[in-house]
Amino acid sequence: MKSRFLLLTISLLSSSLFAQEARNTKSEPADHIDFLDDQQVLDEFYRLALTESNVYPWLGEMCLEIGPRLSGSPQADSAVEYSARLMEGLGLKTWKQSVMVPVWQRGEKEIAFYRAESGESGQINILALGGSVATPKDGLFAPIIEVESWEDLEKLGREKVEGKIVFFNEKMNPENLYTFHSYGHCVKHRWGGAVEAAKYGAVGALVRSLNMRIDDFPHTGSMKYDEGIDSIPAAAVSTEDAETLSAMLAKGEEVKVMMRQSCRTLPDKESFNVIGEIKGSERPEEVIVVGGHLDSWDVGHGAHDDGAGVMQSLCVLELLKKIDYQPKHTVRVVFFMNEENGLRGGKKYAEWAKTSGETHIAAIESDRGGFTPRGFHVDGSETALEQMLEWETILEKYGIHQVEEGGSGADIGSLKTEENVLIGFVPDSQRYFDHHHSENDTFDQVNKRELELGTASIAALVYLIDKYGLK
Ligand SMILES: [Zn+2]
Repeated sequence: MKSRFLLLTISLLSSSLFAQEARNTKSEPADHIDFLDDQQVLDEFYRLALTESNVYPWLGEMCLEIGPRLSGSPQADSAVEYSARLMEGLGLKTWKQSVMVPVWQRGEKEIAFYRAESGESGQINILALGGSVATPKDGLFAPIIEVESWEDLEKLGREKVEGKIVFFNEKMNPENLYTFHSYGHCVKHRWGGAVEAAKYGAVGALVRSLNMRIDDFPHTGSMKYDEGIDSIPAAAVSTEDAETLSAMLAKGEEVKVMMRQSCRTLPDKESFNVIGEIKGSERPEEVIVVGGHLDSWDVGHGAHDDGAGVMQSLCVLELLKKIDYQPKHTVRVVFFMNEENGLRGGKKYAEWAKTSGETHIAAIESDRGGFTPRGFHVDGSETALEQMLEWETILEKYGIHQVEEGGSGADIGSLKTEENVLIGFVPDSQRYFDHHHSENDTFDQVNKRELELGTASIAALVYLIDKYGLK
């Protein structure tokens, strides 16, 4: 693809050198010349993002002054108000879209320790999974049994599992270059482990944190219960403590764990998606959405997940304003509420979109951390993918030319139609799971320049889609 761009440049140069002849022969297609203009626009997005963007200070304000924003929490309410103020301040047409969200509270800090048959004992770091029930007030004390898969559990059967805490210890596969593939493989244990374990009479579930690194941060995340199956308490254990427990069990000793957590679910509560837009000058009823989720888990700051994504999305519109770009289509930023434990905001927006009389031609989500941009995953028709692949020539300069077919993002998933294109912004994935859903997802872990480059990258794509369309 690089050589194609060089060839175009050379052919443009030669056509100007021989301008007279060029006028008499078949002229270069107009889009070749546009590509050079486009490069200048994109250069300007990057320059402004790296020198004048508010993406980093706004993310800092939200993380440090409001903090984590679990759906239904007072911090989530504050984040809604803060976001609406930022959008209004940018001169966007701004509104809040009401949505009922689940309310889950962690309660007191969890406590857990182990004791082996040999007498060895110690504390372990756990975090209740989002949606989990509490343990009895004095804690749950039971032997643990280690499994790596549903098959392991089935082989052990009720006889070996009943009355125990099932310890799911599948490691994220380090061989995958793209870490989300490893996450995708393991996440079923966090989501459904408590249900599967309870089917065999287990009294609790401990899940190895979805983190490739060995460290002491437990990583929470959503889980489910099924009707008709006992709801047992479930928690994530840090990778370091998972290794300790596993090593002890490998010696053949019985290991008991005491875990105590006091989380609870309250009735649903009203919250909001926060929405701002620049109306299209030619086709206002055709919409390009760019967004992320405003809620986060209740630990750390929700900086990479997904404070980075929402602030990048907002600052895409800031960049359009800074260059006085008047989009042909409506460009709309959506801060979705409740991605983490319900996806209610994404569903609500999609429901509304169906009745709004508009066409959503494209939606882009940033929800993979504020790291160095690499490219985009595209969920759309073959022609849309081909068209984006052609843009690789212009995107390559910024290192964002990894355009591949793939999933877009959880919040925008419900917007899919036969005609439109959903796109996931893809930054480098190597460090994301060091932070994801843990105390380690804090503002100081976000690199200013990487965050800014992501903003410019998404702006570049919005600009190209607005200018050329995407079918
Ligand atoms: Zn997220």
